[in-house]
Amino acid sequence: MDLSNLTIKKIHEGLTDKKFSAFEITQEFLAYIEEKDRKINAYLRLTKDLALSQANQVDVWLAEKRELPILAGAPLAIKDNILIEGEPATAGSKILANYRAAYDATVIKKLKQAGAIFPGKTNLDEFAMGSSTENSAFKTTKNPCDLERVPGGSSGGSAAAVAADMAVAALGSDTGGSIRQPAGFCGVVGLKPTYGAVSRYGLIAMASSLDQIGPITKTVEDAKILFEAIKGRDALDSTSVDYDAVLEHSKEFSLEGIRKMKIGLPKEYFAGGLDKQTRLAIDEAIKLLKSLKIEFREISLPRTKYALSCYYIIMSAEVSANLARFDGIRYARIDADSRAKESEYMSENQRVNQPKSALEKIYFRQRGRGFGDEAKRRIILGTFVLSAGYYDAYYAKAQKVRRLIKKDFNKAFQEVDVILTPISPTPAFKIGEKVDDPLAMYLSDIFTVPVNLAGLPAISIPIKKYKRGDGELPVGFQLIGKPFRETDILGVGQYYEKLL
Ligand code: GLN
Repeated sequence: MDLSNLTIKKIHEGLTDKKFSAFEITQEFLAYIEEKDRKINAYLRLTKDLALSQANQVDVWLAEKRELPILAGAPLAIKDNILIEGEPATAGSKILANYRAAYDATVIKKLKQAGAIFPGKTNLDEFAMGSSTENSAFKTTKNPCDLERVPGGSSGGSAAAVAADMAVAALGSDTGGSIRQPAGFCGVVGLKPTYGAVSRYGLIAMASSLDQIGPITKTVEDAKILFEAIKGRDALDSTSVDYDAVLEHSKEFSLEGIRKMKIGLPKEYFAGGLDKQTRLAIDEAIKLLKSLKIEFREISLPRTKYALSCYYIIMSAEVSANLARFDGIRYARIDADSRAKESEYMSENQRVNQPKSALEKIYFRQRGRGFGDEAKRRIILGTFVLSAGYYDAYYAKAQKVRRLIKKDFNKAFQEVDVILTPISPTPAFKIGEKVDDPLAMYLSDIFTVPVNLAGLPAISIPIKKYKRGDGELPVGFQLIGKPFRETDILGVGQYYEKLL
């Protein structure tokens, strides 16, 4: 079977038309992943037993002639910071290498009920901190379009799995661009929902006021299907909202509706620093959309230049708080052989020159060995900006700037319905190119972080259909919508997709 043309919808049709069983399609995907992923490294591990038992369940539903939910039988790759009961969940970190999830994330629970299949857990930057997947403690994922390049991050494993046909779709998480940027680098679709649209229960937290779970798919239509399945209020996440109650417009979109929309082009996003090929490709996309008679307007988001600094203060502050719970006692120990490590710890301890209680020794050893450099960097930065004496100068200031950034968007949305921007300043970069230069790495998020600071929905859409291995690097564009108006950006995206 050719897995490259499969979408959620096509699998659904294939199952209901009895072209294949869920068991067959799952086996086919698992076999393909085992072969293909030797080169790509998208998955950290396969969850074969789970996948096959889920497939059996779907086949029972078929045999009982039950109406199949649209996601039944669809193999979805899951980022390894999302909990599946009984399965390991490492968040790409050594400190969780031996942890097994005690419960299902709410999104997982919903997808299980919908009959989705989980073939495996995908690679990510440690605790979702990064833009290339190179910060994973376990492996570096490669971009399926060019194996010398990164797939983006932090959901690089999920994006690469979808782009290389090793899953029909995937879940990622996005704190500052981690769904949209890897989707853009790999030539697939990635949706970051409005803050509060999807429950974060069971997502290993990075920065709680910015994190959202969302779909990575081959088509905008599939992104919509997956989003519909995971959204909604959850009693276990107090920041989640009753989506349908806040939605004051029709759910479906007509071409007429889209033609009446105005799309804004923020001039700050098209200034210097944007790679020339990326610029040209985006101009093509705009031209195509103009052929639908959609009106474009130049707009201004003047505080864009402060977004990255603001993000790195707020995000680090929240990271330092969220990662404090990994103390080497709860969750899992990183190694059982503590005696051998004791001597190692002693020398470290002497270096920092502080006598410690037995408990502190455990914290020092486990956290010192368990966290990678990027996690440590952000914990230190976050602790600093929250410390007495610096709190007002950094953290409180950043919160004010965050509000101003949100105001910029509010103002722009009085004029336009949707905003179109690049996803990142360049296409996928080479493995190793930025790994030793954190600031250069941070800059690749410049167009995605303002969206998280403002809590808005945004989607990245490939500018054309990319064929793997044709030497071309994918480029996409980002559509940003008003809060809880995913339908707007999905609608424009779906029409764009049809024009290709
Ligand atoms: N690349 C960004 C960072 O390193 C965003 C990460 C994310 O969205 N999880 O913080």
